[in-house]
Amino acid sequence: MYKLKIIPILALVLFSCTKSRKNNGVQIAPIYQIGTFQKLSSGNYLGILPVGFALNYGDFGLGAATQTAHSKVYFKEITLYNNKIYGFDSAGVVHDITLANDSTPFLTVTNFSPQYTFEFNNPSSYKSIIKTLDSLLPDTSNKMFSIKIYGIFDSILTRSLPSFNQPVPLLTEVLKKQIIFKTENTKGTLVGFRFPLNKNASANTPGYHFHYISDDLHLAGHALNFEARNVKVYVGVHLTTTILKE
Ligand SMILES: [Zn+2]
Repeated sequence: MYKLKIIPILALVLFSCTKSRKNNGVQIAPIYQIGTFQKLSSGNYLGILPVGFALNYGDFGLGAATQTAHSKVYFKEITLYNNKIYGFDSAGVVHDITLANDSTPFLTVTNFSPQYTFEFNNPSSYKSIIKTLDSLLPDTSNKMFSIKIYGIFDSILTRSLPSFNQPVPLLTEVLKKQIIFKTENTKGTLVGFRFPLNKNASANTPGYHFHYISDDLHLAGHALNFEARNVKVYVGVHLTTTILKE
């Protein structure tokens, strides 16, 4: 069972007017994109901007970081949360890379300003939560959503990626080598987005996309699946994506 609550409109105006636009009097933050999903999918893995650049455009986001050394590309799954950037490497270690030399080929960021909250009173799966969100969120074929899920994760599967020799194969091949970490009883936050399934698919990943960061900062990564309880979901609505650099 879930409970829906709409936060009063006044709570929305938390960000600079220069990075937002008005829609019927409500401030709507854009979503900013470094790199595009289309380019990442076609094998453009080398970073185009330092990861810390994203903090100029928001406090909430996800993406990938890369470093190159000895003809190899090293990947980290990244979660941008509380003005810090956390990278999750192939050994399952979380790094604070806010000020590090890692660069990003793909990163989605916004100023998080939730307009909806949902509470799930019963233990809930990833599948059941997104099914509920799909039934409640407005105009999902056009609007974009930033989504924070906080709770106790009885189990969660997160992944990172191994290093590859250059030239690195296409993303579909890279993902076949993903490294999966199953963790039980962790408390933390999923930072994510939902983009329309057919719109802007070349810039952003269509559908839901979540990266995790545990409260103790010991676990992160791209979320594949989870079972959680005491779940609270916070959702911000967005109308536009601005590509900062392709
Ligand atoms: Zn991801």
